[in-house]
Amino acid sequence: MLQFPPAAPGMAESEIDTPALLIDLDAFEANLDRMAALLAPTKAKLRAHAKTHKSPVIAHLQIARGAVGQCVQKVAEAEALAWSGVPDILVSNEIVDRAKLARLAALAPLTRIAVCADDPAEVPVLEGIAEAAGARLSVLVEIDVGAGRCGVAPGEPAVALARQIAASPHLRFMGLQAYHGAAQHIRGHAERKTASTAAIAHTERTVEQLRRRGLDCPIVTGGGTGSFEFEAASGVYSEVQAGSYCFMDADYARDLDGSGAPIATFAQSLFVLTTVMSRARAGIAVVDAGHKAVAVDSGLPLVWQHSGIRYVAASDEHGNLAIAPECATPALGEKLRLVPGHCDPTVDHFDWYVGVRGGRVECLWPIAARGGFS
Ligand SMILES: *Cc1c(COP(=O)(O)O)cnc(C)c1O
Repeated sequence: MLQFPPAAPGMAESEIDTPALLIDLDAFEANLDRMAALLAPTKAKLRAHAKTHKSPVIAHLQIARGAVGQCVQKVAEAEALAWSGVPDILVSNEIVDRAKLARLAALAPLTRIAVCADDPAEVPVLEGIAEAAGARLSVLVEIDVGAGRCGVAPGEPAVALARQIAASPHLRFMGLQAYHGAAQHIRGHAERKTASTAAIAHTERTVEQLRRRGLDCPIVTGGGTGSFEFEAASGVYSEVQAGSYCFMDADYARDLDGSGAPIATFAQSLFVLTTVMSRARAGIAVVDAGHKAVAVDSGLPLVWQHSGIRYVAASDEHGNLAIAPECATPALGEKLRLVPGHCDPTVDHFDWYVGVRGGRVECLWPIAARGGFS
């Protein structure tokens, strides 16, 4: 069911229908500007990951600040962005199903589209699809730089796969996808840097081996919100793929900076607005945002700016808040902001962003790729 818009521009925040997904526009725009400023002195450009925001509006705001394009994980996300005019899209993932690949090739007249491969068996499939579509498909070799998910081993296996791609008439070898997902949420700065430095070394060595075999890498891409500073400073990566930085979440707020303090590079800008719907039991208030509104895979949400109130249990459509004895129980009907534990899957629960500034609704943005997991 397409969700009815929960607000209209000009409304007060307290009038928004809940549960609703809020963007604090001042904090959000500051995050976009901050990333652009941090990358400006480096060799790396941003190719923001759209699996976080799923929104053509946000993609275009990132591109307006210097992003070269967008990463997506799924063909459906690529479609939503390509149809909205995003000019350069990398599927930072393997797509092996022929019907999905045909959908991807059909986007080639609209946008620069690239996809990843990590298996020699996939190359003839990609070649056949590109030939049938009359397109030339850009392909990156994904290497496993330590995350242990997808990706061929760095070094010779990657070179062999790149040569196979380069030798296919309807494919273009475009470089390396080298993302260390597991490094992003290593809490300590030194440990996160160590994991990222190892990933960068694998990547640098592979780029060098490719160059010696006459294969250039126009794109070397990786790095997320937790590690992009290292990839961007390396001189090896041409792009970084941070996604969560525009919103942040309670889990990322637990990563530490070099001084041991929670990282404060980016501000929390994404919230689930929720209403107190019951306070029948002493010390407990119940809100209308359960785990169908706010993702709990990376921990429960936090209650924004209420240190004495803790979100302690999520069921489908209810959240239990424990109220500290010294705190007043929120009023029935009172609206509270929750900080999601994990931003990306929280976004996927909603059809609308409600942009808020100074306590007023300023805009409503459709989450066009919401639910697009195919
Ligand atoms: C999720 C993801 C990112 C972005 O990571 P964040 O932690 O959200 O910044 C980048 N690249 C790939 C391949 C990803 O899966």
